[in-house]
Amino acid sequence: MAEQKRDYYEVLGVDKGADEETLKKAYRKLAKKYHPDANPGDKNAEAKFKEASEAYAVLSDPDKRRQYDQFGHAAFDGPGGGGGFGGFGDFSSMDFTDMFGDIFGDLFGGRSRANRTGPRKGANLRTAVRISFEEAVFGCEKEIELTLKDECPKCKGTGCKPGTSKTTCGKCGGRGQIVFTQQSLFGTVQNVQTCPDCQGTGQVIKDKCPDCYGTGYIASKKKIQVSIPAGIDNGQAVRIRDKGEPGTNGGPRGDLLVEVDVARHPIFQRRDMDIYSTAPISYAQAALGGDVMIDTVDGKVVYNVKAGTQTDTRVRLKGKGVPSLRNSNTRGDQYVTLIVQVPTGLNNQAKDLLRQFDSVTGDSLNYVAKHEGDAAKENAKGKKKKGMFK
Ligand SMILES: [Zn+2]
Ligand SMILES: [Zn+2]
Repeated sequence: MAEQKRDYYEVLGVDKGADEETLKKAYRKLAKKYHPDANPGDKNAEAKFKEASEAYAVLSDPDKRRQYDQFGHAAFDGPGGGGGFGGFGDFSSMDFTDMFGDIFGDLFGGRSRANRTGPRKGANLRTAVRISFEEAVFGCEKEIELTLKDECPKCKGTGCKPGTSKTTCGKCGGRGQIVFTQQSLFGTVQNVQTCPDCQGTGQVIKDKCPDCYGTGYIASKKKIQVSIPAGIDNGQAVRIRDKGEPGTNGGPRGDLLVEVDVARHPIFQRRDMDIYSTAPISYAQAALGGDVMIDTVDGKVVYNVKAGTQTDTRVRLKGKGVPSLRNSNTRGDQYVTLIVQVPTGLNNQAKDLLRQFDSVTGDSLNYVAKHEGDAAKENAKGKKKKGMFK
């Protein structure tokens, strides 16, 4: 494709060093000559117009011009058609009139017809799907139902009753525009307006297709399979090509964007690729160490708690987090905060044992009784110096 293209400077008939004003002038001249409005039905003129518009689109943008000067047309032929310019590659479906509104604005009196006759990509559709926490982590297949417009099979999208076809608009004579003349002190002034009967297409449907009422589209409920990749996060969207609105004049369909709404999990929280949770451990496990069961998205795992673990200690379970969207073999980690549980509802035997345990580990239960006198003395001393206790 690239090698068949003419050099952009050659297309516009300017030299490599041409400044902005020169480019604009050259383009205006060509646009005026080859504009579809001035050459209805002339394919050659339309191609010339597009070629010039494309050349101007690139050369009038300093960044694109630099790229073009460096790489030539190859700069725009990257994978996906967008090249390095964020989707700038597909010139055929672009609306040059919108891009160069200032040029056409005074040239043809408002929106031109070019954008109505050229192929245009359909609009993107957006929808949402609710998935569970685990489904987001591991990916899933979902079926969604939505209403999609399709070309009407009865009229093949023309909107005309079978056997009939569009007729030339009577109001504008097929030009898509109405010129009305006004007399003024300075002579005759011509004004151009988009034809209200045909919306600028130059054609009207006399006998409408009974199935689609002349719209050319039939809307129907469709079931669509969505593959949700492992690692997707709340608010991210899956793009399904060609499931958006139909294009016009042979343009491709738009895309469907399915946004995921991830449900909260009772145990796990997520931050990027890592998962956070808490796990209870007993006083004995904390003090003596030992194996505990911890919930992960892969199921329960055994974790060996070190002797003397304090409450709120955070441990890391490597690779138990969320897979990377780009590479599902790479996973984040799970961070588990261990919470030491204080025993409650002890029976008498347990209470006695705990008292025994206390008496051999510092006798905390009798500490105050033994040190009441000391505390009073400390208090008195402290007050004289500087209020130690407030
Ligand atoms: Zn129809
Ligand atoms: Zn008309």
